Order: sequence, then structure tokens, then C-alpha cells
Amino acid sequence: MSQYHIWTVGCQVNTADSAKLAAGLRRLGMEPTDQARDADLIVLNTCAVRQHAEDKAQAKLGSLKHLKRTNPDLKIAVMGCMVGPHTARGDDPITRRFDFVDTWAQPQRFDQVVGLLDLPGIPEAEDDGGEFWPTQWNEVFPDETRPTAFVPVIEGCDKFCTYCIVPLRRGRERSRPIDEITREIEAHTLRGVREVTLLGQTVEAYGKDQPPVDPETERADLSDLMRAIHDLPNLRRIRQLTSYPPDMTDRILEGMAELPKVCEAFSLPVQAGSDNVLTNMRRGYSVAQFRDRVEKVRSLWPEVSISTDVIVGFPAESDADFQETYDLLEELRFDKVHVAAYSPRTGTYAQRNQPDDVPHELKMERLHRIEDLQREISFRINNRYLLNDVEVLLESTRPSEHEGLERHTGRTRTMKLVHFDAAAGAYAPGDMLSVTVTRVGPWSLQGQPV
Ligand code: SF4
Repeated sequence: MSQYHIWTVGCQVNTADSAKLAAGLRRLGMEPTDQARDADLIVLNTCAVRQHAEDKAQAKLGSLKHLKRTNPDLKIAVMGCMVGPHTARGDDPITRRFDFVDTWAQPQRFDQVVGLLDLPGIPEAEDDGGEFWPTQWNEVFPDETRPTAFVPVIEGCDKFCTYCIVPLRRGRERSRPIDEITREIEAHTLRGVREVTLLGQTVEAYGKDQPPVDPETERADLSDLMRAIHDLPNLRRIRQLTSYPPDMTDRILEGMAELPKVCEAFSLPVQAGSDNVLTNMRRGYSVAQFRDRVEKVRSLWPEVSISTDVIVGFPAESDADFQETYDLLEELRFDKVHVAAYSPRTGTYAQRNQPDDVPHELKMERLHRIEDLQREISFRINNRYLLNDVEVLLESTRPSEHEGLERHTGRTRTMKLVHFDAAAGAYAPGDMLSVTVTRVGPWSLQGQPV
């Protein structure tokens, strides 16, 4: 029996793509292996959003060279955001540097990967950009074995922020039909999935290319999709990722707030708290518009948790610009802030036209200032949970350091990570239970079952 090995870096979209590819390969009769040296097919699903992820993929590729030399029948595919149109055409120095790679497949070109295999029953490869999966395989859904699953609902991005490579690698926004997503989620729930996260680079853009569900509207939107899946038996929680302020209409937010399974948690990147920097980034909103959306979300879900992303040291970011970002974070008090120092990505507008003029030391100083601020804010927010009971969906279980007990980890509806010990065998991943919080830290909570 042939074996495949998939190595994945990057965001949840990549994780979901790898899961889908794995399901397709299993349908073809292949088996997964954790060891690259045992595989007949190795797929690297790559990320290009940060230099670090790209460096990791190149290091991994370098380590595969000797495997190919010792086993010429081995097939190696590189997929994901590192593969741009030039790379896919072989018109990129990286394809010469790693000339032992059998195919360079742009994101979701599963057909190109599958086409490498000499196996019966392989569908015809498509040449339409590989929107999701070869047409004949539309119903290949990932074989999730965990209680939570990521489900891509919209691919690509139309926003073209100046620093971002995603629209250039993943193409324009394309939504999947509601029926297809519903069937996928139904299949997940039959395998034990209890929580789904609907994924998109800008998830509230969902449905711009889909027919209306409500005769009063011109097209479907994210709240229509959530309503369609809401009553699936055994589905307990619905989440969405990632939010983009201008797409978050009142209709979407108010529709979501009517659905009890939709969790009160948002990932809402602000990127900067200065209008100058937001304009330079071409983020498509002002600080005032961002603040308005945060206020709307908080008015609908008073207990909501909101995490955000910030880039410090973007070209031309002055001390005053940075201070505005710092002040905004202090004012809006997010549950979590993912902060990154700007680094130019090859091929983006920013790399070509916006000089990387903030010194590295200053970027790091700004980054640490935000980290220090946020540690304090996260701790204070989490403190509010102390001695309260929270609903936890159990995600994983491992042996505890205390004899006879198991260590469980799960999340609240608000995405807080909760750890607790319980008697061995008392709980299993997928269980939903009430936990009293007995200790808090900035990044997680600890407790005991009620
Ligand atoms: S919204 Fe901007 S940062 Fe996000 S994926 Fe689209 S272009 Fe990139």
C-alpha cells in the first residue's frame, strides 16, 4: 500500500487544505505516515506570509533531497502560498534550486498533486485554477477525528493590503455554496465533530457571489450560512475566522447574534491604530470605522472576547503613529493581541514601493511595548473568570502528573484555553462540561469540573 506524508505550516486555511488532501489520498487507497522516509508521496503545504515560514519550508525541502536521490520513485509536491504563478510555471529561481521537486502547485491545486500518482481511479486534472477540488471529488470531505474542525467557506481575498501576499497567491474571493458546506459539516458531525470554525481570509465577505437565501436580499451572507447549519444535530458551536471590519455589516452581526450556537468570540485584526498607517497599508478602513465595529460587536455580545493582530514598524510609521496604536489597544482592551514586526514580502506592493525604513531595533522596542501592555490587559480580563463556571468543550486529554488523573484541555465559548484534571476515564474529547475556574493567567485558565 502506498503511503503519503503531508507537512503543513501556516494558517488554519492551510491546515484545512491539508486535511482535505489527506481525505482524497485516503479515498485513493493511500495510507498516512508520520515518517517522510517511508512515504511514496511527500507534500509540503507552505506559507509565505512571514519569512520565517518560508525559511522553514526551504530547510525542509533541502532535507528531502537525499530521500529523492535514494528513492527516485518518490514524488515530492510543494503546495500552498509559497507557490506563485511564476513558481508554478517553473519561472522562479526556487524551482531551479530544488529541481528534484515533481510539482509546484498553487494553493488548493490538489489535482496537480494527485496527478503525480500512478494509481487507479484518479479523476481528470482540472485546469480552471483548482477552485476547490476536482469536480468529480466535490464530496471529498476531511476525515476529522477531533471534536473541532476548520471549514473553509470562502477562498482568496479581494482586499490587496499593500504588505500581503495572500491575494496574489490565493486569488480573488470565491464562496462555496451553502449546500456543499452544510453537507461537509453534517459529515463532520457524524464523525464526532462538535464545533466548526467557518474559515475565510475575510470571512464576512462570504456569499458575495452566491444567490440570496432571503428574498429581501440580493445575495447570501455569513449569517444566512450560519442559519443554514445551525440546527444540524450534534453541532454544538459555530465560530468564524477571520473578520474584516468593512465586511461586518449590521445584518450579518445581528443575524449571528440571534443564533445561540454562534460563539461570542471574534478575531478582528486592526493592524494599526493610526489612520496614516492604515492608509499606507490600504486596509480600507479608518480607526473610527474600526472602533464602530468593535462597539457594535460588544453591544450585541456583552461577554464577547476579541483578539486582534498588529504590525509594528510598517514603512513610515512614526513615533506618533505607533503611540496611536498603543493608545488604541489600551482603550479597546482586546483579549489577545498577535503582534508582529513588519518584514517585506517579496512580490507585494509594499516591498516594491514602500521603503522598509523603521530600524529593526525600533520595531522590536515597539513590539515589546505592546507585548508588555497586552500581558497586563489579558491577565486582567481573564481575572474576571476567576471562581466562575464556564462551559468547556473538551479538545484533548493526556496523562496527568498526578496518579490516577488525566489532564484535559478545552476551550470556552470565548476561546479561552482551560486546563483541568479529572479521574481517568471520566471525560473524553468532544464532551461539553461545566468547569469552575480556580486559577487564571494571561494565556489560559485552570479549573475543576463542577
Ligand atoms: S484582508 Fe489584507 S491582510 Fe487579510 S488576506 Fe486580504 S490582503 Fe491579506
